[in-house]
Amino acid sequence: MLILECPYCGVKAEETELHGGGEAHLVRRGPDSSDDAFESYLFQRQNPKGVHFERWRHAYGCGKWFHAARCTATLEVFGTYSAQVSEPPQQIRDRIAARRPGWSWSDQG
Ligand SMILES: [Zn+2]
Repeated sequence: MLILECPYCGVKAEETELHGGGEAHLVRRGPDSSDDAFESYLFQRQNPKGVHFERWRHAYGCGKWFHAARCTATLEVFGTYSAQVSEPPQQIRDRIAARRPGWSWSDQG
């Protein structure tokens, strides 16, 4: 069972209390971007076996969106943080790098 801590209200919520919102940190593309970039923004998503950054909503709690960093293979949660940032906080990246030697944020995307 996946349990994530909402970074806003501090509740440790089971997956059934949350609503998944897909991949986090997508770079939005506007109508003036190339067709390939816009198609990629709309349809291309990562589906890694390993470290993944996701959007979640505390649907049966405070209702706010947040981001979670977790491993899709082991369900290990590296941390949750505000959805108001464009990159994971350094503290989360350090935690992942400590648990997954060789992992780097720059390798994502
Ligand atoms: Zn909450």
